Amino acid sequence: MNFCSNCGSSHIDFIVPSGDERKRFVCSQCQTIFYDNPRMIVGCIIENDDQEIMLCRRGIEPRLGFWNLPCGFLENDEKIEDGALREVKEETGAEVKLEGLHIVYNLPKAQQVYLIFKAKMQSDYIKLTPESTEITFFSLKEIPWEELAFSSNAFAIKHLIDLKENPKLNSLSIGSFPF
Ligand SMILES: [Zn+2]
Repeated sequence: MNFCSNCGSSHIDFIVPSGDERKRFVCSQCQTIFYDNPRMIVGCIIENDDQEIMLCRRGIEPRLGFWNLPCGFLENDEKIEDGALREVKEETGAEVKLEGLHIVYNLPKAQQVYLIFKAKMQSDYIKLTPESTEITFFSLKEIPWEELAFSSNAFAIKHLIDLKENPKLNSLSIGSFPF
């Protein structure tokens, strides 16, 4: 951090503010403390009527060309449900109905928290976008595990498989991984 976004000063220290336990960027001019907290990623695991799930081939880096669940960063002033629906619409054009939170997945080293909802297609409509160059529904037996973009995706899909095999499991899964 080079300049204070509050007063424009270039006098920024990286120190533990009084009463705090972690180092923060602090403007020595106006004393503003800048907190840096994990980012939230919201998205959906979407089923069609044949119990297949939607994966999108990434048209952008990182992990260009790998398969991903539709998801993206939650915006400020946005509800998590609305963010999940927006990401699906932006990446696939699909209208879906949320069916509850499926998984919470924490990647502390990446400063990310994933919130993945379960959702159902409301029609067959999808469209390709610059973010998604291919959109396909896969049966749970045909998931391209080696070509999944992120471990968070694999974790979410494995939990869906676990739930189908053992409906007595706690439906919401919470996981935490270094990467
Ligand atoms: Zn300042």
